[in-house]
Amino acid sequence: MLAATSSTRTSTEQNRLVANDRKRALFRLSFFLRAFILPSEAGTAEPASTPGEENLSFLVATKSKFQAIRGTRDLLPPETALWNRVEGTAREVFGAFGFGEIRPPILEPTELFARAVGGETDIVSKEMYSFEDRDESSTSLRPEATASVCRAYIEHQMQQLPLPVKLYYIGPMFRRERPQKGRYRQFFQIGAEVLGGTDAPAIDAEVIEMVMTFFDRLQLPGVQLEINSIGHNADNCRRGYVAQLTSALEKVKDKLGTDSQRRIETNPLRVLDSKLEREQPIIQNLPRIADHLCDECKAHYAAVKRQLEMRGVLYRENWQLVRGLDYYMRTTFEITAAGLGSQNAVCGGGRYDSLVELLGGPPTKGIGFAIGEDRLILSLQGAGKVTTVAARDVYIAWMGEHAQSTAIRAAKSLRAAGISVELPPVGQKFGKALERASKLNSRYALILGDNEVAEGSWTLKTLADGSQQKFSEPELLDFLKRSL
Ligand code: AMP
Repeated sequence: MLAATSSTRTSTEQNRLVANDRKRALFRLSFFLRAFILPSEAGTAEPASTPGEENLSFLVATKSKFQAIRGTRDLLPPETALWNRVEGTAREVFGAFGFGEIRPPILEPTELFARAVGGETDIVSKEMYSFEDRDESSTSLRPEATASVCRAYIEHQMQQLPLPVKLYYIGPMFRRERPQKGRYRQFFQIGAEVLGGTDAPAIDAEVIEMVMTFFDRLQLPGVQLEINSIGHNADNCRRGYVAQLTSALEKVKDKLGTDSQRRIETNPLRVLDSKLEREQPIIQNLPRIADHLCDECKAHYAAVKRQLEMRGVLYRENWQLVRGLDYYMRTTFEITAAGLGSQNAVCGGGRYDSLVELLGGPPTKGIGFAIGEDRLILSLQGAGKVTTVAARDVYIAWMGEHAQSTAIRAAKSLRAAGISVELPPVGQKFGKALERASKLNSRYALILGDNEVAEGSWTLKTLADGSQQKFSEPELLDFLKRSL
């Protein structure tokens, strides 16, 4: 995983680096030409002769329109208002459960994910954006944040804080997956982790209760919680089960698709969450983990279910739920929502008691989840749970020399009162101004002409019904504060 040192570089690698340097130099040259030389030729035809084939292709490339990289997208207003509402609700709900926000970096050492998530997982082996940094260390854009939170827990010796430490994060993750609806290469997760202290089943249940409360607050449609226990890594528990599962899978190997066949070697548990229709009858006949859990894991799982019932959290058991990441043990859960097609999982989580130790920290209990924010938003939009707020409270339609300074003063005092105001930079005829005010989805238009200013009587027009009222300056502020 780590980069080779310069003394051990092969000649192919050296050639690649030289080629990259050349490309970079040509790119800089074409940028320079475009920025400083070509503009002076504005209006003239493209030069007939070109300095060189490669150079030409760079010039063409830099002149073409840029687009967001495949699998990434711009989030724009007014949709971003919904994103902010979702994130604000997460902060409120998680805060009410005693969680504090952590903001780990987006770049981490590649090795962190290789060790935490597992080198054999699709995420690490195929989907990570990794690059050799200038100091030749291998660096990656984070594909998930649990590993980062655990790294931070160790780095800042959080085991010395009152335990458990309860943290949540909100931010972008990166995986080079095949893009489709609800699946992106840059996507956002809202997640939380409980680290340290005990592994009391009440903690697992409270974490799940917290996500369900959050979804409830957002009125997310069609929420379904599924839970399972995948035991712990011992011969009398999951390891024994995986051995039995593997030999059962070997017997039906020929009937399975290529992905599942490969997973028998790399991660047999993952065969269980195959979505292939024709594999389902085969999977139904495979041994089930519930019959192979050790007594402690069985008791833990039973207690988690009791705790969920005490909290009024409805769940469905799904023995096929194993989760894609290597670090999970015991409780695993997944939540689906309506309106998402095949990518309907909005949240995945579970217990990972050995992860902090695996990363070089002290033995530490841990449980957490990650919500796919993009999918959450899609589901809310599909259900029409999107309240469109007026883009502007007040549009100031001003015209005339004296009116501008009054308009500036009015804008200042309304904005100071938290009212959103659009103040056009140049005066407009009132008809045009009102047209623009409604295009901008404003609630009111404040009409300020030289006459209004001279009389000290301002007209406020409600755009929805066209009604008008007259106010003095202090009355207006009072009225708007009450009505907005
Ligand atoms: P994971 O980190 O794989 O357990 O995923 C947790 C949640 O993140 C999933 O349930 C999805 O909602 C979301 N998610 C994972 N990968 C993607 C992706 N490529 N695009 C959008 N959302 C994703």
